[in-house]
Amino acid sequence: MKKGIIAVIVAIVLLLSGCQNNTPSVTSPTDADDPIQFAPEKNAQNKYLMGYTNFQEADGFFLGTAEVNGYLLYYDKASGISGVLCADPSCAHDSRECGGNLGGKLSLSYYDGKVYWVGPEGTQLQKYYLWQSDLSGMNRKKIMEIPWDEIIMPYQPQRYVIHQGKLYIMGSASVVDGTQTGKRKSLLSIPLTGDEGFTTVYDEVWPNANDNERYIFIDGFIYIYMSSFNEESSTQNLTVTKVDIAKNTSEVVYQENDVTDILGNIWVTDNHEIYLTGSTDKEAYLWKLENGVKTEITSWSGERVSTPDVMDEIVLCLSYDNDIRWADIRDLTGKTIYSGKLFPDVIPELEHDPNDIPSVVGWGNTYSTGLIGGDAGKLIYHLSGEEGSKQNRKFVDYTILLDLTDNMKATILWSSRE
Ligand SMILES: [Zn+2]
Repeated sequence: MKKGIIAVIVAIVLLLSGCQNNTPSVTSPTDADDPIQFAPEKNAQNKYLMGYTNFQEADGFFLGTAEVNGYLLYYDKASGISGVLCADPSCAHDSRECGGNLGGKLSLSYYDGKVYWVGPEGTQLQKYYLWQSDLSGMNRKKIMEIPWDEIIMPYQPQRYVIHQGKLYIMGSASVVDGTQTGKRKSLLSIPLTGDEGFTTVYDEVWPNANDNERYIFIDGFIYIYMSSFNEESSTQNLTVTKVDIAKNTSEVVYQENDVTDILGNIWVTDNHEIYLTGSTDKEAYLWKLENGVKTEITSWSGERVSTPDVMDEIVLCLSYDNDIRWADIRDLTGKTIYSGKLFPDVIPELEHDPNDIPSVVGWGNTYSTGLIGGDAGKLIYHLSGEEGSKQNRKFVDYTILLDLTDNMKATILWSSRE
């Protein structure tokens, strides 16, 4: 059984590598005086690609899904009104026909004034499409099929994102070679126009991959961060690869083996500056990666300090003193922007204190928190947990904005309670 799967994978790799010789549809620059113009607003929203929660920013709106139902939700920044993104006033938002029903909760992209996602049609499984709709939720249409046998099965897509006119597919598939197991990490692309087949941008098998890979899309380039664990030495290897989209070439811009620190995540600025986070038992770090050298920018210390998250212009380090979630937020030069409770104010809609961790109050009285992303102005957090009386417990989730320009003032953008 396993051998059969590998044979299929090999056959597909050969097919795809054959396709790679085709000239990409993106016009290649003929000389340095005629560079391709990339509109920054057509870049993927890297700051919301940190986890797997759907979240996008559009003009005047936030868009996303609640974990519980998978409907497309919006928050109007001007009015503070939120709801299911469906323009039909007679719709009860409870059927497949609803403009806000994504048929799952897969990979939302807001791109060039349209909303895109990947999912099945109706209840028909094993047939996935890239869908498009207006920002009103209307005019839903299929853009292309994502072939099940050629793409979904061998590559196991974890996320789809749209960047500069192309759909990118990020895959992570388990592979077995003898007694060795590994993860096949891949990135494929296809133009939204569909006038060209799939291009393999990245395709490598990583033994003991950490599954914390990250892709950052900047104009004509993609940065790919991968890391793996060495069982014998309990150390880690990391690689940062830079892909030139038009040429479909890649180069390793940073590599380090036998790292003893716990590795966090990376961020690449619009100016192509690369930052990485990590931690030891009692220390946490932000490093800059430059010319193959890792330089410490800032650090944190404490008994219960966690591995920081670096994102657009800021780095966040959480710690758990006195069984409470504390946040220390700095800019990428190390200057403190905020230090205090992660949620400094009481949020009246919540049943539990979101700063509490389970060790004292127990799991049932806390929320799990997940960072969706952020920038110099805000953090977006996902909270989930149980609420209600013993007889009527309900799993709920909230998407919350913390305003960094207003002492982390919290706004619930949407929740599964609505
Ligand atoms: Zn509806």
